[in-house]
Amino acid sequence: AFKKSLGQNFLIDTNILHNIVSEADLTKEKGVIEIGPGIGALTEQLGRAAKKVMAVEIDQRLLPILQDTLSPYENIEVVHGDVLELDLKKLIEEKMTGVEKLSVVANLPYYVTTPILMKLLEERLPLENIVVMIQKEVAERIAAKPGTKDYGSLSVAAQFYAETEVAMIVPASVFIPRPNVDSAVIRLKVRDRPPVEVDDQDVFFRVVRSSFAQRRKTLLNNLMNGLFPKTQKDDVIQMLADIGIDPTRRGETLSLDEFARLANEGMRRGLIT
Ligand code: SAM
Repeated sequence: AFKKSLGQNFLIDTNILHNIVSEADLTKEKGVIEIGPGIGALTEQLGRAAKKVMAVEIDQRLLPILQDTLSPYENIEVVHGDVLELDLKKLIEEKMTGVEKLSVVANLPYYVTTPILMKLLEERLPLENIVVMIQKEVAERIAAKPGTKDYGSLSVAAQFYAETEVAMIVPASVFIPRPNVDSAVIRLKVRDRPPVEVDDQDVFFRVVRSSFAQRRKTLLNNLMNGLFPKTQKDDVIQMLADIGIDPTRRGETLSLDEFARLANEGMRRGLIT
């Protein structure tokens, strides 16, 4: 009855469910969006802790079960659909009136973790916290600091939009069926504004992506291949010197602040258009 293709691993440990809910700082004034309620175990806890819950489930077969389990809760509404396709901004406006703050709490389907998180962050939805169970390895990448092996574009993107923290590591044994990987709960505290001054967000993320393009190459080589193919190498070396970044460093040692300086200065000098 489980659909592996939909990432259906259901949580069966009540303690873990409680711990996830408590990470989200919910109150009876706040709202929650749950992605993938499954058979509704986490959903029930959310219904008890929050003012309103909207639970988005893609699998039609689960709807009657959810309706049954959740019928005592007037503050829970199940929406049938693919979270990646739905207009969340509109749904929030329609369904979350009168809530003080809004968070996302979920045990995510692992095959779409990154697209879901990037959608939640990039659409700049009015969210306070995103507390989600994901693959442990992805959680570590999201929260990684510069210079570590896990640090990459996903770390920069997540940390641009949110403060990130791995809240707990969760063994595979608390799920049915048991997944092949360990899991972790990650907490993203969504920022009001990015932690660095960025003149153009697209350029910033282009700089980040090209800096990480080939991990064993120097920053300078990656930039010359990806971002500045038509620029004189000397101009790029000069710019890096002027903003205090050693061109022989690896891209994966740069902080968000250094990526921002690189993007802003590259634009100012007309090297990036
Ligand atoms: N919340 C339940 C729990 O903790 O036991 C179930 C979590 S299970 C890991 C992921 C759930 O997400 C499944 O119910 C699956 O059907 C649903 N799902 C998968 N892809 C989805 C999508 N694109 N949009 C909405 N729900 C999805």
